[in-house]
Amino acid sequence: MEDSRIKKSYKQMVVDAGNTMVAMGLTVGTWGNISVRDTETGLIYIKPSGMPYNQIQEDDIVVMNKNMEIVWGHRKPSIEYHFHISIMNARSDVNAVIHTHPVYSSAFGVTRQDIPGISEDFVQLVGDKIINADYSLPGTPELAGNVVKALGDRNAVLVPNHGTICVGTDIPMALKVCHVVEKSAHTFILAKILGDPQVISTEDMRAMQDFARNHYGQDK
Ligand code: 13P
Ligand code: ZN
Repeated sequence: MEDSRIKKSYKQMVVDAGNTMVAMGLTVGTWGNISVRDTETGLIYIKPSGMPYNQIQEDDIVVMNKNMEIVWGHRKPSIEYHFHISIMNARSDVNAVIHTHPVYSSAFGVTRQDIPGISEDFVQLVGDKIINADYSLPGTPELAGNVVKALGDRNAVLVPNHGTICVGTDIPMALKVCHVVEKSAHTFILAKILGDPQVISTEDMRAMQDFARNHYGQDK
């Protein structure tokens, strides 16, 4: 039976974000995953598991609820639905979660190092730093718990020996977070090779975050 809560536009957002993520070079093959929450119904639209992004159609998207039950769809959902839904359950401000398998930030997950606040965009959009979650196997409820804990109120988290997770109020913001995290990871690696990277002071981070929240942009 048709479920009137299911929206075509949200399915399309997941399809489009997958293709964008691949075009941005943030993942390879079928890895990585995307979800978006419709705040009106609370339903979460997630990528199907193990399908090439350029083959995913609207009707391959799976719709789930906050109890991790499938509400609509004929495909198996991404194996990472545990952390997608756990993050949304823990963070009412987050309506989009993007998990990538990128090059530069993954290096920090392999060496279990944080990415510190080294640039204005990172500090304003992502947080003071991003840290590694405790290690656990992909697709497990245990990974979801570790990821939620290490994410805290920041907008990205590193998954050791695996990849990166970025969040936002919507898909464009989560994609922007992915872009800024990857750029910062790349810059930080280059800075370490060149010399002695300097991190922004806590006081200046706060000033930049306040500016971004209250003044930056044409409508503030
Ligand atoms: P899915 O194809 O099931 O989304 O899994 C890919 C992945 O990156 C698992 O961590
Ligand atoms: Zn993964």
